[in-house]
Amino acid sequence: MSVRVRFAPSPTGFLHIGGLRTALYNYLFARHHGGQFILRIEDTDQERTVPGAVENIIEMLRWAGLEFDEGPHVGGPYGPYVQSQRLELYRQQVQVLLERGAAYYAFDTPEELERMRARQRAAGVAPKYDRFGMRNSFTLPEGEVQRLLAEGAPAVVRMAVPLDRTVSFTDVIRGVITVNARDLDDQVLLKSDGFPTYHLANVVDDHFMRITHVIRGEEWIPSTPKHVLLYEAFGWEMPQFAHLPLLLNPDRSKLSKRHGDVAVEDFRRQGYFPEALVNFVALLGWNPTADREIFSLPELIASFELERVNRAAAIVDRNKLDWMNAQYLRMLPLERLARELQPWLREAGYPEYPLEYLQRVIALLRERVTRLPEILIFGDYMFVPPRHYDWEYLRKYWRPELPEWLQQLLGELEDVEPFTAELIGQRVRSFIEARGATLRAIVHPLRLILTGKSVGAGMFETMEVLGKSECLRRLHKFLQEQLPVLQAQLE
Ligand code: GLU
Repeated sequence: MSVRVRFAPSPTGFLHIGGLRTALYNYLFARHHGGQFILRIEDTDQERTVPGAVENIIEMLRWAGLEFDEGPHVGGPYGPYVQSQRLELYRQQVQVLLERGAAYYAFDTPEELERMRARQRAAGVAPKYDRFGMRNSFTLPEGEVQRLLAEGAPAVVRMAVPLDRTVSFTDVIRGVITVNARDLDDQVLLKSDGFPTYHLANVVDDHFMRITHVIRGEEWIPSTPKHVLLYEAFGWEMPQFAHLPLLLNPDRSKLSKRHGDVAVEDFRRQGYFPEALVNFVALLGWNPTADREIFSLPELIASFELERVNRAAAIVDRNKLDWMNAQYLRMLPLERLARELQPWLREAGYPEYPLEYLQRVIALLRERVTRLPEILIFGDYMFVPPRHYDWEYLRKYWRPELPEWLQQLLGELEDVEPFTAELIGQRVRSFIEARGATLRAIVHPLRLILTGKSVGAGMFETMEVLGKSECLRRLHKFLQEQLPVLQAQLE
């Protein structure tokens, strides 16, 4: 039987990295086994549905490189793939459960349910639907139930959880999990507005969409026994279940769900590479081999094994993501990086530059930053002449001969041809040796004049990329405009 798995988000907000991890593990499992990866939108809680959320989820997963085989945006033989478009199916299936005595009608008003909960609180018992104390098919005469239904009284359908037995299932990651049915609630399956709840829709869809493996977060473990009972009541074969470990902050607190902290779109906006984020997320709960951390998507697919996913919670460590992203920044082809830098340049309001120049700038600076757009901050001087100079720094290297040396150096640099790091270095070295000083005495001021900063890549390499005319222009301008100001301050 071919593997069919689904990612089944509720469109209640942005896709966060927990969702990305679930989607990714489903994707890796499907691709590893040559199976199908399906998107199903679980929008039965209409009040919590956020406009645009479906589009955001689809766009973010596409950005991450996870393509679906079936789903609302690509179609497929088991659609529709949006639960709010499948209401008729759920109603029919609930009928089956009602006929078999596996479900029943209940007519309690919200106030009655609240009073029941208050009684339970007062008595110190766990909140649970009181099947034999409320108004439903168990407690009302048959004729009364029919009358209420015929009248159109608000009614829900609840699951008749068996009273005295255990419910077990085997989790691929965690082994056998057993609970007592008496600890399960008579869950609402169909609401009075005709919408199913998560439990009913989820089981019905997994069955009719022929899902073979349910791979989802650990927070769904408590729901699974209810699903098992539904499969049994329907007489359907169960999928295999695999519950993925929790995600925690480095201090072991529950991962925040605040936008900005965990939203995939924010990682994209901050300039993380999809490859790096996918690599990072893939290792939240699983590692193909102990001795490596950088894996491409095909490598992840090739080695994915559901059985080897950890049970222990996984720590989401942003420093590690930064480290990974930096690895990709060093690895990815310069042509691609240059193309990706262009929109960032535009956004920063910098002039347009040829891709060839951008490639050289990236090659020069990529080992010094973790995210591509940081190049625009760290290396702003590669795109616009320095606007501020770190005067304090220049003061440290100040000496009375400096103005004269800089003037002479300007002339010497004019003769360097071709303007390569090597030739620039040779010229500057012999220039400074002839004056009995150290290289630092000239290189530090030069860096400040050309870049405005005290740190950066190799100075001669930086000059080569900036180009002769730009270097001379900046040096000249400094001597004309800034130096007199500085001298006045120092004297
Ligand atoms: N709609 C659920 C969610 O939002 C799906 C859980 C499941 O995969 O069964 O996570």
